[in-house]
Amino acid sequence: MKTEKLKIALQKSGRLSEDSMNLLKRCGIRFTNGLGKLRSDAENFPLEIFFLRDDDIPEYVADGVADIGVVGENVLSETEKAVSVIEKLNFGRCRLSLAVPKNFEYRSLRDFEGKRIATSYPNVLRRFFNAAGVRAEIHTISGSVEIAPSIGLADAVCDLVSSGSTLFSNGLREVETVMNSEAVLIARANLDAPLQTLLDKLLFRLKAVKAARQNKYILLNAPNEKLTEITSLIPGMKSPTVMPLAEEGWSSVHSVINENDFWEIVEALKHAGAQGILVLSIDQMIN
Ligand code: ATP
Ligand code: MG
Repeated sequence: MKTEKLKIALQKSGRLSEDSMNLLKRCGIRFTNGLGKLRSDAENFPLEIFFLRDDDIPEYVADGVADIGVVGENVLSETEKAVSVIEKLNFGRCRLSLAVPKNFEYRSLRDFEGKRIATSYPNVLRRFFNAAGVRAEIHTISGSVEIAPSIGLADAVCDLVSSGSTLFSNGLREVETVMNSEAVLIARANLDAPLQTLLDKLLFRLKAVKAARQNKYILLNAPNEKLTEITSLIPGMKSPTVMPLAEEGWSSVHSVINENDFWEIVEALKHAGAQGILVLSIDQMIN
């Protein structure tokens, strides 16, 4: 009997490609990908990988050509396909923003009334303007949106931004955020039981990789009279591990801390008298 494989769609070449492939690799899945290669079989997991244009991924998943896929929320909102978001992936962060030429005197969304806006995201933008009660003329173009105002094609643009440097170098100023986006794992509806089992297995690994990336392992030496104060600063997953050191009056403290609070906690620990603070990254974290 042929065993069933889970089929995943990833972006072939673009901003999400490397992070998507690295995520699978961190999940312990081995596969090859070469220039021009459109599909690949994982060597050690029942997984078949398709490399596609990102715009096509929601449709391929909705139609069942692939079971799951990795795509930006921006693309998902634009295509409005019937797929579900299974997990946010913490990469490919960007925002879809409205930007105007430097000489455009912008005060509020009202200023877009009757204006021509160039974008590759007409559906998202139309919904945004409808909700705000603004009637603008949306011009759909598939690429190089940021040059539209300088060649007289539009009065403003709605495009993806991360640092804003592309807008800036094209003489544009970001004025409104239409949506925030990051890469997400999507899945089609009604996976049969064997495929759902494979997806659960993959998700278990994905979550361990995500958690590991969001946390740091910290080790430090604490003078015993400061232990209560120091351990109260790092609650850890349960409570920190405390072990006596060979040197009289000192203990070693181990714990896991979230990277968001990391610098704050390290400063407080140092202030409380902790010494020899070591911070290590975590490979996997199974909760
Ligand atoms: P494809 O050839 O697959 O259609 P593309 O040119 O449409 O590729 P990319 O530019 O590779 O797409 O961007 C893919 C996704 O990366 C975007 O849809 C978005 O979710 C995300 N992204 C993150 N940061 C940015 C950014 N600064 N500009 C554009 N996209 C970004
Ligand atoms: Mg695309």
